[in-house]
Amino acid sequence: MCGIFGAVTPGADAAGIAALGVFSLQHRGQESAGIAVSDGEQLMLYKDLGLIAQVLDERRLPSLRGHLAISHCRYSTTGSTVWENAQPTFRMGRGRALAIGHNGNLVNTRELLARLEGGKSRLAATTDTELLTALLADDPSSDTVEALKRVLPTVQGAYSLAILDEKRVYGVRDPHGFRPLVLGRIEPAEDDPEGKHSGGWVISSESAAIDVAGGTVVRDVEPGEIVILEEGKDPVSVRFAEGHEQLCVFELIYFGRPDSYMLGRNLYESRRRMGIALAQEAPVAADMVMPVPDTGAPAAAGFAEGIGLPYREGMVRNRYSGRTFIQPSQHMRQRGVTVKLSPLREVVAGRRLIVVDDSIVRGTTTRQIVALLRKAGATEVHLRISSPPIHHPCFYGIDTQIETELIASTHSVDEIREFVGADSLTFLSIKGVLQALDLPYEQFCFACFDGRYPVPVPYDTARHKFVLEDADGEPVSQGEAGAMGTRPEPGN
Ligand code: AMP
Repeated sequence: MCGIFGAVTPGADAAGIAALGVFSLQHRGQESAGIAVSDGEQLMLYKDLGLIAQVLDERRLPSLRGHLAISHCRYSTTGSTVWENAQPTFRMGRGRALAIGHNGNLVNTRELLARLEGGKSRLAATTDTELLTALLADDPSSDTVEALKRVLPTVQGAYSLAILDEKRVYGVRDPHGFRPLVLGRIEPAEDDPEGKHSGGWVISSESAAIDVAGGTVVRDVEPGEIVILEEGKDPVSVRFAEGHEQLCVFELIYFGRPDSYMLGRNLYESRRRMGIALAQEAPVAADMVMPVPDTGAPAAAGFAEGIGLPYREGMVRNRYSGRTFIQPSQHMRQRGVTVKLSPLREVVAGRRLIVVDDSIVRGTTTRQIVALLRKAGATEVHLRISSPPIHHPCFYGIDTQIETELIASTHSVDEIREFVGADSLTFLSIKGVLQALDLPYEQFCFACFDGRYPVPVPYDTARHKFVLEDADGEPVSQGEAGAMGTRPEPGN
């Protein structure tokens, strides 16, 4: 998972708005941040490990001049916290200079690597995004759009891209539209007598970041579409493939901000409706409903509404702790939960609780939460999860780890209940998710829940999923989502 943003702001520097945009996408990745700008002549890149406010601070931004910018925040995964993997990528190739911010994961890296003249020795970092950047920068077509139209049809997997060359910003969505990408417009500034700030155009992983940047959402970038943003022109749309949207349903369940819209659905409202559907599917006698903060809150509100029980906050979350799931090691993850969440004894003691969360991945956090609540005096803990069990790994950009780390791939629901120590446990069905969204199954990727992968994953899935071999049998790490459990060596 990652956040991408791009802006064209004629007459004004774009770096500020690109930084603000990606700052509003911080929830999509906390490992590294970066920005690439162009003044129409030359690209400049700045990226580093850390949060956006640390990397793109006020001292840095003024030096990033130009009316074109893209920005990126990267999802943190085990063992991949190296500067080389931060984005945007940058490449001065045989055909052009390019910078790319990528959200998603490519699945045919081996074939793509075979096409790269000089092979992996020409890559600074061994990620799929670096490889794609090199292929596009080297392509002999006279123009970036032609290069995209030639290269993208050979690329398989998930990719929403923000691309920058000297003259333009491009928004690209793969033909399945696994990851979101939205086009927006920034109105000209009103208090600008010289008429210098003529507004502009933006692309963003999520609509909420366009709202925060003061823009208005125009539409989703379509699967299989390239949107070209250029000074003094309205956006131009070019197709490189036929598209059929199969948006990752986990974006709506967990990842996206509650104030974002996807497929015309507001995510807070969607999650609240998932909670209502869950209350219909799995009612239980209890005294109150509480969320696992923060992401479980909308579904818990819906559950309380659906079952007609009071909604209370039974845990306090430390606002300054990151998501536990993405701490670098299992050991830190386990310590992380108590640092992040503490139970409200006053609320939970002596009560039968319905605890609502959006998902269970490994089960380690959930197990600790149940233990914390019992220690604080809860008499019963009934867990309700507003998504189905995650049985299968994601190959399209969400770090749900290798199959054996997913508790639902090796445990039945009752075994999970026992592991996490709950009195009862129910997951929302796929049907319930669809009922809440009021959209057909065909519009989504449900692969992590039902194993129906829209794009075949051509590698031995029994192996660690992001360690792939190139033609020499050497491991090639995948992904902006990181080489999970492996450490891509800089320069190999
Ligand atoms: P666990 O019990 O360890 O599986 O953790 C479950 C918690 O992780 C839930 O509260 C989810 O909201 C959260 N979660 C689910 N998927 C992810 C993810 N990809 N990154 C970070 N947190 C996640």
